[in-house]
Parts: sequence; structure tokens; C-alpha cells
Amino acid sequence: MSKHLYGDYSTPEKFLQCFMAGLIKRNPGEVEFHQAVKEVAESVVPFMFEHKEYFSNLILERMTEPDRSVTFRVCWEDDQGNVHVNRGYRVQFNNAIGPYKGGLRFHPSVNLSILKFLGFEQQFKNSLTTLPMGAGKGGSDFNPKGKSNREIMRFCQAYMTELSKHIGENMDVPAGDIGVGAREISYMFGQYKRINDNFVGVLTGKGISFGGSLIRTEATGFGTVYFTQHMLNHIGDSIKGKRCVISGSGNVAQYAAKKIIELGGKVVALSDSGGYILDEDGIDSEKLEYVIDLKTNKRGRIEEYAQKYGVPFIANKRPWEVKCDLAFPCATQNELELEDAQILVKNGVMLVAEGANMPSTIDAIHYFKEHKVLFAPAKAANAGGVAISGLEMTQNSMRISWTSEEVDQRLQDIMKSIHDQCLKYGKNGEVVDYLKGANIAGFVKVADAMLAYGVV
Ligand code: GLU
Repeated sequence: MSKHLYGDYSTPEKFLQCFMAGLIKRNPGEVEFHQAVKEVAESVVPFMFEHKEYFSNLILERMTEPDRSVTFRVCWEDDQGNVHVNRGYRVQFNNAIGPYKGGLRFHPSVNLSILKFLGFEQQFKNSLTTLPMGAGKGGSDFNPKGKSNREIMRFCQAYMTELSKHIGENMDVPAGDIGVGAREISYMFGQYKRINDNFVGVLTGKGISFGGSLIRTEATGFGTVYFTQHMLNHIGDSIKGKRCVISGSGNVAQYAAKKIIELGGKVVALSDSGGYILDEDGIDSEKLEYVIDLKTNKRGRIEEYAQKYGVPFIANKRPWEVKCDLAFPCATQNELELEDAQILVKNGVMLVAEGANMPSTIDAIHYFKEHKVLFAPAKAANAGGVAISGLEMTQNSMRISWTSEEVDQRLQDIMKSIHDQCLKYGKNGEVVDYLKGANIAGFVKVADAMLAYGVV
């Protein structure tokens, strides 16, 4: 048998322990990356012991080492003529089942650890979508908060000037993530086109008039709720009448709220980094339109909702202390910790669906499992966004555009297929372990492609 990088492999438990110790040693200080790998390895290692071909070919070791990570200097000028330097990244994780695919994040917290956790997760998520997409992630430690439009434009152009050397419509296709929406994608696409004189679908999340797909904006939030609907239907229940708490108020949170309201659920809380609002009457469509405009166009704070509608704003707190049936963490990584999970369980939560990437800590996930809370992991629940990116690539290649109804139907079909895959690998009698199901289903497709290529 091949020599494993990480020591003892006599039992799954021992291997997992040595594997994690080795991974931490090889990637020092990258705590988010360690966490994302551990969450997957806990499900996949026992499975690999039953399917020794993955084990003997060191598939997990290979899947935890990106194909390459590029870092570069991004130099730009603010409106006052001051020069700034940021660091740009693109981590190309795995292209076994398609071109590298995954978002760009602009946030001051961005570092290699965060991008490696996101790129690693993306392998499983993209595999679950059923579409031919590999995995990557990129971004910068640039902070878009408080910047003028012109400053954002200059930064995006400077970032793309270097990034354009590393991407291509059949090679690596970035999209948005935190801090990168339609405005930023447009500036970057314009710059790519200027440099290459090549009008191709090298980015997704584009504007509708230049190759974007209908429903891409809504896709992540809608997909999370479609997935939740399948989980509830599976136990003979539905979203109708359920009290829902959503964290965040950006793209994912907005469209998760929209779909929940459409399906008859009641959304009572939304948040941002300043705190959360509690609206006991429920956020209706009109109030939600206000939030979407506030966050997307005015770039304001959620606190303004509280002033406008005369409801409480709870500063510097996360919304998990609010009693609810369904909880949707849609803000960022590690925003739901063990203590939050304990309060949610105490208040009778029945289901948690992750709209953000890795919002729950491993301890919180274990706690949900112990207390029989239905748990939809990010790689399954938020895969709708990248799925519609995949459909944007298809439409670009075919040089056609589908209607919203057509794209929405495909999104619904994909979320159903992800739910089916979770059942296939995660069902144990009446109980469904969605985390295990998503991890193993996502893993098998990529692993089988890697095996087929031989040792590369
Ligand atoms: N950033 C999103 C995600 O986490 C979307 C990526 C994409 O559309 O490529 O999946």
C-alpha cells in the first residue's frame, strides 16, 4: 500500500487523528482550513476504510492539497490620490470534474486559510450540483466598506489585471462571494474584456445584458429554502407557518427571506455585523424590498430598519437567542457557536440550514446532531448559487439565455437531486445525517474522477 503522509492507519479513528495532526503540521495556523477538512474527514474517513481504493490512492491527502495557490500585489489609488497596496489571491483547488469554479471574496479578514477552507468546501459543493465544475476560491483583504464607486472600480480593475493571467472560460471561472456582487463582477468583466479582447463567460454573476443568467442573484437564498422544503417534506412537514430567524442581510439572507415569505413562513429577524432587528409581526414583502434596497443600493446598516419600522434593534448580538422553528445562518463562517446552538435547542429549533459557508462550528454541529435537530450543511444547502453559475456557463457556451421560469425549474431540480444524494449516503433507518450524506456524495464523484486519471 502507498505510504500515507500522516502515519498510523490501522483504524479509522487512529487514521483520522494522525491525518488531522499531519494536516495541521503541514498547514500551520490555518485554523479555518483545518476546521473545514475535519468536518469532512469525520464522515469520509470511515467510508474510505470500506472502500480501500480511495485509501490506497491517498485521495484524501490529494484533495486537501490545492493544485496551486497564486498570491499577488494589488496596487490602487483612492479618490484623494493616496496609494494603497492589498494582497490578491486565487486558490485553484481541484479540476477533476470541470474547470476551477468558485467565488471571489473581498473582506479584510481574507487570508490563505479562509480561501483554502472555501476552496476545499467548494470541491464537494460543486460536485453535488451534478454540473461539471471543479473548485477554486479567491479574493483579497481589500475592505469595500465606505469606499466610493470609483475606488471600487479602480480596485477591481487592478485586481483583474493580474487575475486575468490565471483564469479562462474553460480553465477557471470565478464569481462573487462576500463583498463581491453585480457591481464588482461588472468592473472585473469589463477589465478582463479590455485586456483580452475576448467576450467569453470567464466570470459568472454577470449583468443580464452581457451574458448573466436570470435567477443568479436569487439562487443561493432560494436554493437554501428549496433544500429546507425537501427536508421538511421528507418528514411530512412544510415551511408554512414556521417562525424563522435569518442571520445576515446580504444577498443570501435577502433571497432566503423572500422565498420563505412566499412559502408562508414568518421571518422575524435579520442581522449585520452591528446587531440584529426583531420584527414580531414578521418581515413582509414590502419591508423586505426596503432591506434589499438598503443593503444593495444604499449600502446602509440594518439598524435603519428598526428606526423605520419601530422595532427593537439589539446591538452587537447575533439573532440565535430569538425563539424560532427554523434557523438560517446566512452571514459568514463561525457565526454559530456551541453556546448559540445550546440556546437554539433550548428554544425548540427543529432545523438549521446553512446559507453561508461553514457558519456553524464543529461543536455546534455535534450538539445539533446529539439533540436530533435537522441540519443542512452549507455544501448542500447553499449549492444553488454556484449551480446557477454553472447554468450561466452553459448558456454562455450555447450563446442563448433561458427564461427565469426555466432557470428556476432547473434550480429546483438540482436542489432535489442534492437532497436525494444526501439520502443515498446519509440515511440510517428513519434518521438522515445530511452532513454525512453530503460529504460522502460530494467526495465520491471527485474521488472517482481522480482515480480514473491515475496518479496525477
Ligand atoms: N461564492 C458562492 C459559493 O460559495 C458562489 C460561487 C460561484 O458562483 O462560483 O458557492
